[in-house]
Parts: sequence; structure tokens; C-alpha cells
Amino acid sequence: MSQEINCFEIVQNLIDDCVEKLGLDRTVAEILREPQRVLSVSIPVQMDDGSIKVFKGFRSQHNNACGPCKGGIRFHPDVSMDEVKALSTWMSLKCAVVNLPYGGGKGGVIVNHKELSPNELEQLCRGYIRAIAPVLGADMDVPAPDVGTNGQTMGWMMDEFARYRGYNEFGVITGKPIIVGGSLGRVEATSRGCVFTIRQAAKATGLELKDATVVVQGFGNVGSIAARLLSREDGCKVLAVSDSTGAAYDPNGLDIAALEKFKLETGSVVGFPGSKNITTEELLQLECDILVPAALENQITGENADKINAKIVAEGANGPTTPEADNILAKRNILVLPDVLANAGGVTVSYFEWVQNQYGYYWTEEEVNERLERKMVEAFDSVYSLYKEHGDINMRGAAYMVAIKRIYEAMKIRGWLGNKA
Ligand code: NDP
Repeated sequence: MSQEINCFEIVQNLIDDCVEKLGLDRTVAEILREPQRVLSVSIPVQMDDGSIKVFKGFRSQHNNACGPCKGGIRFHPDVSMDEVKALSTWMSLKCAVVNLPYGGGKGGVIVNHKELSPNELEQLCRGYIRAIAPVLGADMDVPAPDVGTNGQTMGWMMDEFARYRGYNEFGVITGKPIIVGGSLGRVEATSRGCVFTIRQAAKATGLELKDATVVVQGFGNVGSIAARLLSREDGCKVLAVSDSTGAAYDPNGLDIAALEKFKLETGSVVGFPGSKNITTEELLQLECDILVPAALENQITGENADKINAKIVAEGANGPTTPEADNILAKRNILVLPDVLANAGGVTVSYFEWVQNQYGYYWTEEEVNERLERKMVEAFDSVYSLYKEHGDINMRGAAYMVAIKRIYEAMKIRGWLGNKA
């Protein structure tokens, strides 16, 4: 994840650029280049052998002009303060693109969670929440799962916060299991949101989705569900998918339901009956209508961007396309649906979870999906129309401009910019 340290500079440069393009005062960029608050904490945990191990963690609150900070908690051995700051900045932009009443936040703990016993992991989750509890709250900062954390870890964290407060505050954390206030539709939300943006992009560019060819990098939560929805609901032909072990390719289209079962049983997509094994790099270069990078950052780079053979690239993952590749793809008229738009479905349904927690009243999955569709369609339309209007920016630039304009307006009305901006 050290590559994401670069992402902080990348996101800062993009902010500078967009503030200039929007004709805003330089102060706006100065405020948005750095988080408002970054907390660094140390968490002693008693290990199963009786020894005490001290873990280091962070919580970054980038900007709360539009509402409470919102963003996941990452458990990973390479997490750094800079990475958490970058991710919190991204969250401010993502929330603003979809017009959620949130700012951006992100947390992280330096740990290889796979090396901890369930008891040690629970103690770490509880210790981390106790350490950052003074800056958390449904109206202040609302964490969620990210890499290395999940529904169970959120359950422990929510419970620890309830002990700290002295009462249940379900809305302080999202991505919770349904029994403790989670929302229906959250598991599929990121992929479903991505599919909604693909549908809008197809409409806008005259691409017929029935029998459109799709290639997906990554077959985890985001990639496998995106492949499933595109093949099942839109009649797309998914030619190839990959995971960390390799890729499966079938020019006639893969049976995604059978492949999901195969992956569950064998732990890999490689060797799926009837498919050909190819490398991830070969997968990225396959001719297709839609490419969905849904694995890692920095996958489409200056090296391979001129070999990408897709009409639309929909970024399920965070940061899969480097700025250099972005420019090459734009010159080649490949439409990139940027991460802050294409994978914003997850945080959108996290917002719905928070709303349902505040109400104490829960929606059906259909209601959640309908509301998600409205949000994603509105977000796509506002970004796409700015992109078309400007002519000299790509969809990422347009998404950043939509987001920064909203955050700027909130900061201005709150008086953070004095009288000059
Ligand atoms: P998962 O861990 O569930 O899935 C990641 C997938 O990527 C796995 O299938 C993994 O393989 C695969 N992978 C890892 N390395 C490679 C590689 N070198 N080549 C090809 N595939 C590889 O993560 P998610 O699906 O949750 O997240 C994927 C991306 O989406 C991340 O960037 C995440 O930040 C972003 N995202 C996720 C959201 C969510 O709600 N889940 C929300 C917004 C963004 P294997 O199965 O073999 O481990």
C-alpha cells in the first residue's frame, strides 16, 4: 500500500488543478490539501501468551464542511499516516460527488490482522475505538470497514463505543451486520453502484449492454458481484476475470454463477472448466466494451494504457489508473468512470444505513437499491454534463470539480473562507 503515499500527492495535485479551473481562491486548495485533524494513537493489547504488544493507529478527518466525517478503518501492515490522510481526502471528494451530507475520514492500524487470534483481534478493535472515541460519534465521525476489517470487527467496535457512551449509538459505525443495525443491500452496494454508472455511460455513449463484452480484474467483493450483476441483469458477456492467482478467459462468455461457486470451492478462478488461463496483464489488454479494474491501485499505467482495448473503464477499485495512463486513455477516447464516482455506491448505502439507524426504521432491499440508483444516476449526470461542457477535462477532472465546488460552497456559507473567496 506504500504506492498510495503517491496517491496523496496525486490527489493534492488534482485538487490544485481543479481549484484553478473552477476559478476559486487559492485558499480553497490550501484548506483541502491537508486534513483538518489527524489523530495518532498507540494501542496496547494483551496477547494470548500474556505479553503486551503495542500497535500504532491513526484517524484522519479531512473535511467536515458538508457533514460528519465518513470513511473506513484499514488494518494492514503497510498502513501509514500519509496513506490514511490520502484516503480521507478521497472520501471527502467521493461523498461530495454523490452529494452525501458527509465529509471525509479514514482510519488505519498497522497490523497484519491474519496473524492475530480472534481474541487478540477483538482486543485490538476495542482498544483502537477507545483511543479514538473522543472524536467519534454519529454526528462527528462515522467509520466503516475497509481492507482487513469486516462486519464482525465493526460489531466489536460499535459495542465498545456503546460502552464508552453508556448507550447504543448504532449510527456511529456503518457496515455492521444486519442484526445490529446494518442495512440490506450493503454487501452488493459498491458493485451495484458501479453497474448503475456503467448503465448511464452506456446510454450516454450509445453502447448496447445486451451482449456487450466485459472484462473484470479482481474477483473479490466488488469484482465478482459486478460480474454477476452485469451478466445476470444486463445480459453482458463476461469474457474474463482475474484474481491474485491468475485469470480465466472464455471468448464465448463465462458462466459467472458457476465461476463464483468454483472460486468458493477452490479459492481461485484459475482452472475453471472450459476457460483458458491467461495472465492479469493479458486480461487488461483484451478487446472488450467494458473493463472493470476491481482489485488494486496503479494497474493501468503509462506502460500499458495504450494497449487497453476497452470503450469504457469503470473503476471499481480505488486508484487503479495512474495520471499518466488517464491522459493516454483520454487521448484514445476511452471513457474512464473514475473511482470517486464509480465505486461510491458503498459509501452511499453506508449513508442509508446511518439514516436508518437514526430513524430506527429499516427499508427493504428494493427500497435501498432504488434510492442507490437515484443517487448514482444523479451523480453520473452531474459529472458527465460538466465533462461534456468543458471539453478539456476528463471524467475524473469533472468529478473532482463537482465535489470541490460543493465542499467550497459549504465552507463559504459557514464562513471558513472569510469574505474574499
Ligand atoms: P477484496 O479483497 O474482496 O477483493 C480483491 C480482489 O482482487 C480479490 O479477488 C483478489 O484476489 C484480487 N487481486 C489481488 N491482487 C490481484 C492481482 N495482482 N491481480 C488480479 N487480482 C488481484 O476487495 P474488494 O472487492 O472489497 O475491493 C477491491 C477494490 O475496491 C479495492 O481497491 C477497494 O479499496 C475498492 N473498494 C471497495 C469497496 C467495498 O465496498 N468493498 C468500496 C469502495 C472501493 P484473491 O481473491 O485471490 O485474493
